[in-house]
Amino acid sequence: MTAIETLKSTSNTLRDVLTRLQKEDAALGHFNVSDHVLLKAVIAAGAESKLPVLIGASEGEREFFGARQLAALVNSERQESDFPIFLNADHTHSLAKALEAAKAGFDAVTIDFSALPFEENVARTKEAVQAIKAVNPAILAEGEIGDIGTGSEIKETAQGGKLSTPEEARQFVEATGIDNLAPAVGNMHGMLKSMVQGKAKKHLDLERIAQIKKAAGVFLTLHGGSGTDDEHFRKAIAAGINIIHINTELRVAWRESLDKSLARDTNEVVPYKILRPVVDSVKQVVSLRLRLFHGQPASREAVGTVA
Ligand SMILES: [Zn+2]
Repeated sequence: MTAIETLKSTSNTLRDVLTRLQKEDAALGHFNVSDHVLLKAVIAAGAESKLPVLIGASEGEREFFGARQLAALVNSERQESDFPIFLNADHTHSLAKALEAAKAGFDAVTIDFSALPFEENVARTKEAVQAIKAVNPAILAEGEIGDIGTGSEIKETAQGGKLSTPEEARQFVEATGIDNLAPAVGNMHGMLKSMVQGKAKKHLDLERIAQIKKAAGVFLTLHGGSGTDDEHFRKAIAAGINIIHINTELRVAWRESLDKSLARDTNEVVPYKILRPVVDSVKQVVSLRLRLFHGQPASREAVGTVA
């Protein structure tokens, strides 16, 4: 039996993989893609490490890529891969967009009505959960509470406000029927300039994560993971985080390596020659995060320290 056949013959749904990783004190890496360069980078990192990857695309990213086109590409990659690849419709703000993703074959949908008052968030999320499960009962429905700001970009000032409480987490899960919850626990979308420069790190409320996990009793997703302190990632996973979103770090690597690649030879016009180093740069960022989320040395420096 080939590695691909072995993978296909065992039960490897998204729920199975999350359950297995939780027992292993590991988390599933969620990496956003806007284009084929980013998708190639995430797939290459998964192929190298044989670790599962969750590919994410927000409404804006899906609009640029094409929801059905992205699903078809991911499905094609999955058929030729010997590691699990899943696809999430990140930050979905309407029932219509949630249904579009479910019908296109996405494995999970992040239903995001977190900007609305709590009761309205509950009602709209519950409606979307029921609608997407009617399309595909195996689909994983995620809901969001609290405020962690919007946009995976470089920012001047910190965003986000009220942190989630264990009680509202419990109420929200019970009332909506979601499979995984994305709370506000000190995380934030985007990165400050100081974080891009490596001078500052995000820190998480680890005690709150543990309390929310206990109260909610479902898988937990950490959004806005870019720029988070490595040690906090490890402790957050131990406290109950199951999925970690990384987007801005990939976008920064994409932009910086593209600038460099274009500047290397201003007469170069062959796209795959310009873009190949960009794929490699983004892949390196994905690989480091994947290793960290699976309890392996997070960086070459860390390997050196251990040795
Ligand atoms: Zn997010």
